[in-house]
Amino acid sequence: MPDLMQWFARNIVFPAESIWIGSTAPTHLRELERTQFLPAGELTELQFQGDKEQIRAKNYSEAMLVPNKTGGSTGSPLFFYLDKDRLFSRQAATFRHNHWAGWDIGTRTAFLWGHRGDLSETMKMKWKAKLRNKFLDRNIVMDTSSITRDKLINFKLLLKQKRPDIYIAYANSMYLFARFLKETGSSDYHRPKAIITSAEVLAPEQRKLIENIFECKIFDRYGSRETSVIASECEKHSGLHICAETFLVEFIKDNKPVGAGQLGKIVITDLLNYGMPFIRYQIEDAGVPSSEPCSCDRGLPLMKMAAGRMTDFLVTPDGRIISGAALTIYLIANAPGVAQAQLIQERKDEIVFKIVRGDTFGDQSLRFFETEIPKFFGAAIKYSFEYVDYIPLESSGKYRFSMSKVDPAEMF
Ligand SMILES: [Zn+2]
Repeated sequence: MPDLMQWFARNIVFPAESIWIGSTAPTHLRELERTQFLPAGELTELQFQGDKEQIRAKNYSEAMLVPNKTGGSTGSPLFFYLDKDRLFSRQAATFRHNHWAGWDIGTRTAFLWGHRGDLSETMKMKWKAKLRNKFLDRNIVMDTSSITRDKLINFKLLLKQKRPDIYIAYANSMYLFARFLKETGSSDYHRPKAIITSAEVLAPEQRKLIENIFECKIFDRYGSRETSVIASECEKHSGLHICAETFLVEFIKDNKPVGAGQLGKIVITDLLNYGMPFIRYQIEDAGVPSSEPCSCDRGLPLMKMAAGRMTDFLVTPDGRIISGAALTIYLIANAPGVAQAQLIQERKDEIVFKIVRGDTFGDQSLRFFETEIPKFFGAAIKYSFEYVDYIPLESSGKYRFSMSKVDPAEMF
């Protein structure tokens, strides 16, 4: 049955609201839908245009700017401004990337979202927001900044009742929900048409389980609060297409750009935020640029995310860089009796394992670590265990597998 509400949202409510608030999002969206298929050379040309405009930034009064705040990549808040047009072009970029997953304006969408700040508008539900949600966004939301079994049970029921077509989720929250459904052993739950994961790195094993449970494809995405969507997967799933019309994304090691296929620190320049230049921002993530074209014919370059933020990487005494997320899968997941763990690297040769002990934790667990830890870190590593009752989430709602106090300059 055609979804009349969706038709109404897309063709009546969205255009009307755009006129009402003076939004340039529809214009940006039309343009972005076109430019994604430009050849790479023409996209580079377009990027230079944006960069030059930004350097000539006109005078913007405070009233024309929208303040934005983020937790910052290292936990210290960062304040910045977006000009209004940039706010709308961001929205348009998110819409375009959502389209690749089959989403459209008015599609019923469920959010499993860990950062309360992002949700506050929808959660508080003032009458305007309520109206907007009813006719335009049609979203249902689960706040995953903390997850309990009761919350998961309720969410499962709500999804079954509302039947949203798309889930947009923190990767780790989505994984926990999928694991919960698997454990219940029942197949009586709602399956969306596609899942967009974001905000946290999605491990291959997590993707496999989620896709199995929900019988649909994941469209992984890389973005941040500072920037919104930076890159995301298309229907071919062969890497993340960079939103190149709006961002210049550089991959740097030793102050030089790395070659295709090499790991580098990600540095972002926003090409369209004329109100407040956002130039060569070190976002504290690492990734790998690609020179391969995608079979979808989009000219937008591809990249891959490294498994984790810069500070999530651990370094071995002999200088190898290890992803904390990968360790969680290959080391922690196989350790007997470990309910949860977090690895803190104090120094290059010293690691503390914070461990929440499960019922079966004991001598065999310690023996396991004795054999396995040197395999990953080498024989020179010193390590100790700290037993804790729980591992709190970050203020952003993200779960940190690992944290390094080693100066990143020593790694990259
Ligand atoms: Zn593609």
